Amino acid sequence: MPTAVAGPEIERLIQLLARLPGLGPRSARRAALHLIKKREQLMAPLAAAIQTAFDRISICRVCGNIDSQNPCTVCTDPRRDPSVIVVVADVADLWALERASAINARYHVLGGTLSPLDGVGPQDLAIDALVSRAHEEAVKEVILALNATVDGQTTAHYITDLLHEAGVKVTRLAHGVPVGGELDYLDEGTLAAAIRQRTPF
Ligand code: ZN
Repeated sequence: MPTAVAGPEIERLIQLLARLPGLGPRSARRAALHLIKKREQLMAPLAAAIQTAFDRISICRVCGNIDSQNPCTVCTDPRRDPSVIVVVADVADLWALERASAINARYHVLGGTLSPLDGVGPQDLAIDALVSRAHEEAVKEVILALNATVDGQTTAHYITDLLHEAGVKVTRLAHGVPVGGELDYLDEGTLAAAIRQRTPF
């Protein structure tokens, strides 16, 4: 155990920062030092932003997104296409699709994927809520934007079966060559999927 170089308040700050994803103890120490040096310009606004977020953040009762308003900004945006629901496992996936400006639709956050090994069953995910949304008059298509993993695809099949009687089109993301990707570096599964899902040029 290394000896502390700072008082308990600063050590506590470093320990908390080190719990953030992507920050190990060394980066946390650097981040803490940076915050301390930029006390007025960065540390004070960051502390205030964290407090405000803590006070105001809630989970959208419609789609499961995280926002400071409920229903969330996406659900209340009148310019969104109400006929399409994009199903994602986590809020991080929703935010990634929004960053990419991939689609101007609404979302549904499942809160994970089915995983028998980890004991995650249908009752642990927001699947019932999705099925009832899919029955709404305006909804015509459900896009399953789930991970291309065994759990992601198991979840996609499970949901597709449940949505059968809702009379909506169920689609999923294409699998294949990433933008800027070189064929020689792709794994066999990805290459095979890319050939199977080829499109007219
Ligand atoms: Zn929402």
